[in-house]
Amino acid sequence: MENAASVTPAPRALATEAVHAGREDLARLGVHAPPLDLSTTYPSYDAAGEAARIDGFAATGARLEGPPVYARLDNPTTARFETALARLEGAESAVAFASGMAALTAVLLVRASMGLRHVVAVRPLYGCSDHLLGAGLLGTEVTWTDPAGIAEAIRPDTGLVMVETPANPTLAEVDLRAVRHACGSVPLLVDNTFATPVLQRPLEDGARIVLHSATKYLGGHGDVMGGVVACDEEFARKLRQVRFATGGVLHPMAGYLLLRGLSTLPVRVRAASATAADLARRLGADPRIARVHYPSVGGAMVSFEVYGDPHSVIAAVRLITPAVSLGSVDSLIQHPASISHRIVAEGDRRSAGVSDRLLRMSVGLEDVEDLWRDLTEALSAQPVRAQAVRTGSEGVRESRRVGR
Ligand SMILES: *Cc1c(COP(=O)(O)O)cnc(C)c1O
Repeated sequence: MENAASVTPAPRALATEAVHAGREDLARLGVHAPPLDLSTTYPSYDAAGEAARIDGFAATGARLEGPPVYARLDNPTTARFETALARLEGAESAVAFASGMAALTAVLLVRASMGLRHVVAVRPLYGCSDHLLGAGLLGTEVTWTDPAGIAEAIRPDTGLVMVETPANPTLAEVDLRAVRHACGSVPLLVDNTFATPVLQRPLEDGARIVLHSATKYLGGHGDVMGGVVACDEEFARKLRQVRFATGGVLHPMAGYLLLRGLSTLPVRVRAASATAADLARRLGADPRIARVHYPSVGGAMVSFEVYGDPHSVIAAVRLITPAVSLGSVDSLIQHPASISHRIVAEGDRRSAGVSDRLLRMSVGLEDVEDLWRDLTEALSAQPVRAQAVRTGSEGVRESRRVGR
């Protein structure tokens, strides 16, 4: 017979965590919505006590007990978002930053501070992540490889293996268990921005660090910028120390909005994914589309290649917004070679599979028929497959345009 005292509570489903995690104390506080704490500083009449708490943080990076000292150290509203995101990713801890790029910067600085500046990474990555690794801004040295080459690329000073799956913008997928095996003792960072914990939880596949541009699906409404790292508490402590020293903190208002965004994350992602899968099927059957990219894990991103001029599609959408970024309630479309991956050198872009004919669409919550009508009208200037003439290594070019 079970002893009631020893029974651990059943794990709660993701949908339940999404609306309750980080809010457990609200009823006791006598409120329903989480309080938004905008203080930059906190009064204390006990300077000796504050000194001890600051020493403790400097030595360990553990979260402060009691009220914060200063907003660059900790914020109670942001902490709620961190707690909730950690729960959704199945992580011990999470540390939030001002943006996805600030989050990646902090991870790289933690490793560099241990003398581990070498990173092994798989392309494609988000354009600015590619740039940050390769441009040497943080003294990072990168070896680009395909997943099969990871084990061989690892050196004694390798501090990190980084992959993105599904990857921005081709939606290429990486077998995380295989990659994890190749990493040995080197921590594996997975950028989980596109899949979100609703579709994929990389820590369960052996990743040590999960990174999000919270600006995308976690916020979900195109009105908040943030980044977050989910990981074990040991690594989180180092991240908090870097965040305190470098100042890339998330604004509490952003923390509030991100916590609110998480509560609808499962329904938003599932609804938009169903529409995206439908659009991917329709695009796949359309003779004006050379290639469709849609990941096996699902998700709300669809990328596709046209035979003709991709800029004419961007110029012709009316319902879908022609804009970079993704993960909002409304649909966006952009041309990676011009915008999101512009900062990556042309040759590197192409070898990573980012064709100049590739368009990347972030599918929102609109009705699928309205989205399809807009897409198909925007595609009306595109040549169809039969009319595209093969021209050697250049691939395809249009022979004539077909009107509609
Ligand atoms: C947007 C994005 C980032 C960068 O995040 P910001 O919040 O814009 O700094 C990182 N990774 C992926 C996959 C992204 O799409």
